[in-house]
Amino acid sequence: MTPSTQLLHPAEARILICDELAPTAIESFRERGFEPEVCLGLSEDQLVEKIIGFHAAIVRSATKITRRVLEAADELRVVGRAGVGVDNVDCEIATQKGIVVMNTPTGNTTTTGELAVALICSLARHIGAADRRVQGGTWGKKGLMGTELTGKRLGVIGLGRIGRVVAERCQGLKMEVIAHDPYLQGTGASSPIEGVKLVDLDELITTCDFISLHVPLLDSTRNLLSRERLESMRPGVRIINAARGGLIDEEALAELLDSGHIAGAALDVLAQEPPGSDHPLVGRDNVILTPHLGASSHEAQFNVAVDIARQIADFLIEGVAHNAVNAPAVSASTLQKIAPYVMLGEKIGSFLAQCMDEPVRKLEVTLSGRVVSEGASYLPLSILVGALRQIVGGVNYVNAPLIAKEHGVRLLEGSEDESYAFQDLIKVRGSSRGGEESHVVSGTVFGSSSRLVRVNDLHLDLEPRGSILITTHNDQPGVIGGIGSILGSAGINIHRMELGAGEQRNTERAQAFLSLDQPPDDETLKAISELTAIERTRLIEL
Ligand code: NAD
Repeated sequence: MTPSTQLLHPAEARILICDELAPTAIESFRERGFEPEVCLGLSEDQLVEKIIGFHAAIVRSATKITRRVLEAADELRVVGRAGVGVDNVDCEIATQKGIVVMNTPTGNTTTTGELAVALICSLARHIGAADRRVQGGTWGKKGLMGTELTGKRLGVIGLGRIGRVVAERCQGLKMEVIAHDPYLQGTGASSPIEGVKLVDLDELITTCDFISLHVPLLDSTRNLLSRERLESMRPGVRIINAARGGLIDEEALAELLDSGHIAGAALDVLAQEPPGSDHPLVGRDNVILTPHLGASSHEAQFNVAVDIARQIADFLIEGVAHNAVNAPAVSASTLQKIAPYVMLGEKIGSFLAQCMDEPVRKLEVTLSGRVVSEGASYLPLSILVGALRQIVGGVNYVNAPLIAKEHGVRLLEGSEDESYAFQDLIKVRGSSRGGEESHVVSGTVFGSSSRLVRVNDLHLDLEPRGSILITTHNDQPGVIGGIGSILGSAGINIHRMELGAGEQRNTERAQAFLSLDQPPDDETLKAISELTAIERTRLIEL
C-alpha cells in the first residue's frame, strides 16, 4: 500500500472482527469514524461467504484465514492478527493476492515474559505436581524437593523482546543469565542487557541449569533442541518453552525426562495443540503444561486490541502498514516524506517497461540524495510495481516481489551514481534478458512536481503524466511541424514538447517527447510514422 493506492474513508471501510477482542478495539475504531462488524465463531464455509465486500479482517488465533477464505475475498486489503504468530493466516496466498498481513508484536511481550518467569519458578519448586497432589486430597512433600534459583545459571535462547524481559526479571531473582542470539552476536554488538553475556549455542546448552526458549519457529529453529542437543545438556537441567511448539524434539525430551537426565520441563506450547491424551509429555509430575497461555492477560489483550485497531485504521485511511509481515516496513513520517518519489518511482518503472521492445528482465536502481536514501527500502519496490503493472494486473507493494520472481524480473541495486547536480535523483536502468536492449531513465521531484530529467543520453524536463509520444526521426527541418499538423487535424493538442539534446549529439537522428492532451488513435499514429523523416514512434501512457 502506498500513497498512490486508493485510500478509504472510514465511513466506506468495512472491517470484520472474527475473534473476540477487548471492547477497547471497537471503541478505538469508532473514535476514528469506523463501524466494524463483529461476527464470531464462523466456520470456514461461513467465512468464505461472509468475507465478500470486507476491506479488513481481524483475528486472534481461533479463526483461520485459509486459502479458500482469501480466494473468496474480493475487496480484502488487510488481515490483522491481534497477537504475534500468524500461523492461522495463509500468508503465501495473502501475499499472492496483494493482501497485507499484519500482527501486533509488542502488546504481549511483558505478559509472555512473565509467564516464562512463572514457569521457571514453578518448575524449580514442583508447583504443578504439588498442587495436583493437594487438590487430589494428599498432603505430603515426598518427591517434591525443589531447587533455589539464586545463583543458578539461566540460558535464554533468543534475546529479542520477550527474551529480554525474561533475562532482566531473572537477574532480579539473582540468577546468572547468559544468552544466545546469532543475530546479535553476528553484529559484533555487545549484549543489550548489562550482565547478560552472549555465548554460542553449545556453551549455553552444555552449561545451564535452566534453558528458556524465546525464538520464532522458522526452518532454521525447528527442532532447535534436537535429541543430540538435549543429550548434551548438563544433567538436571530444566527446560522452558513459552515460544512456539516445534522447537523441541518432544519424543527425545520425554525419554530424557524418564532417564532423569533432564529434571523437568515447562511448556506453554507444543508441536500439536492440543496434545492427544497419549502424548509422551502428558500426565507427568516432572512436566508442567499450560494451554498456550503466554498472551492471556487482561493487559496484553487490551494492548493488542488497541494496537490492531490503530494499525488497521492507519492502513485503510493513510496507507501506512505498521508491523506488516509481508510488506516493507516504512514509518508514516518517512512515507509522507518520500511519497512524491514513490509515485515518481512507479512512473519511471512504467515508462521504462513501455520503452522496451523486449520484456524488461532487470531493473537496476540507483538512489542519490538524502530524501531518496531514506526510502531505500521502499523506493526500488515502487519502480518494480510500475514496471510489472505493464505486464500483469493486480500488482501492489505486497505481491510485487513474488510476481517479479514468477516473471523472471530482477530488481538490483545499481552502481551508476550520477546525481547531475539534482538534490535527489532516482536513476533506473532497465534491460532485456541478456542485456541486448537497455534504457536508462532518471527522475527527480521539484516541490511536489515530478520530472524525468534524463532518458538514455538525452537531458529533458519531462512531466511523467498522461500520453507521451516519443518520435525518433532524422534531424531535419519540418519534421516537428509535420507531426504537429497531423495531431492538430486529429484535434489533439500538444501541451508540452521536449527535444532531447544528447551529450554526444547525433546530427542525423533526434528524438522528440510530445506531451499530449489525449492519446492519438491508431490512424493518427500510423500517419505520423509514415512521415518520411520518422524512423519510429512510441506512445507511452503514464
Ligand atoms: P522477537 O522477534 O522480538 O525475538 C526473537 C529473537 O530470536 C530475535 O532476537 C532473533 O534474533 C532470535 N533468534 C532467531 N533465530 C534464532 C536462533 N536460531 N537462535 C537464537 N536466537 C534466534 O520475538 P518475541 O516477541 O520475543 O517472541 C519470541 C517468541 O515468542 C516467538 O516465537 C513468538 O511467537 C512467541 N510468543 C509466544 C506467546 C505465547 O502465547 N506463548 C506469546 C507471544 C509470543
